[in-house]
Amino acid sequence: MLMKRIFIRHLGLFASTAVCLGCGADQASAPPPPPPFSGQIEIRYASDITPALQNAVTIAAAKWTRALSKNMGDFQLTSSANECFVGEPALNETHHNLLLFVSLLQVDHHGGALAYTAICKLSTRDTLPIVSHIRVDREDLDSVMARGELQGVIMHEMGHALGFNPLSYLPKELAEGTSDDPVFIGALARSEFSKHGAWYTGTTVPLENASNLGLRDPHWRFSVFGDELMSPAIGRGFKSPLSTITLGAFQDLGYTVDFSVADPYEVVPFFGGNRVVPERTLSNDFVRETPPTFVTPQFSR
Ligand SMILES: [Zn+2]
Repeated sequence: MLMKRIFIRHLGLFASTAVCLGCGADQASAPPPPPPFSGQIEIRYASDITPALQNAVTIAAAKWTRALSKNMGDFQLTSSANECFVGEPALNETHHNLLLFVSLLQVDHHGGALAYTAICKLSTRDTLPIVSHIRVDREDLDSVMARGELQGVIMHEMGHALGFNPLSYLPKELAEGTSDDPVFIGALARSEFSKHGAWYTGTTVPLENASNLGLRDPHWRFSVFGDELMSPAIGRGFKSPLSTITLGAFQDLGYTVDFSVADPYEVVPFFGGNRVVPERTLSNDFVRETPPTFVTPQFSR
């Protein structure tokens, strides 16, 4: 019994010491810090949904919320039903940060587009999305799940919905170049890219040039990045890692970023033929269903 009591007292002393080292005597009477900011994304479903898709959306929203934070303010949202997309409910509310609708409806034929993202409302303050919509093609959902691509697709689309899109980065002048060589020039993205892409001689971060969208193609260049979350590619065995380069781009866009949330990722050099051609593409998955409208934030918190 003696040994046990001593052991317990020893543990108590250790714990007490640790607390004192953490707070300090001068701070003992200081008010507690405010709670960490939360509520970055609110998800609302605009159609029937499956449990598997709902689970993937929940996991993706939690990961993006760990990675990104920003107090965008409160917004008065007023719109009629179907104003931005078919199935959109009427809105008349004050909403904080991003409101993200997700629907599971037909997009096109089986094997075509897997999903797409559109922006309904942007903030006048920083051109970041305030109301976005992800539409998942129900014709492809079973095969996407069978290939193990669902989480990657949803994480990718949510990246567009949060601001990785030309409506957000072009007004900030974060992209430049030609349609043959569009590049992202944000300082943080470039800094992170330089840690990974030493084999690539560019001093900017290459955007996809395989489309005719030029600076408006919101994807990293697949021939350089390969399997990365914001590359326009997905396939069986793809891990779709969230790299620090993508997180750097989000910091360039104005978010506060926790780089520790990034997944392991290395840019694999592409020297002719060693890049695995994706089985399916996420190209052209950022669309403008209707022109977005602008809303102005009120900062009440
Ligand atoms: Zn995309």
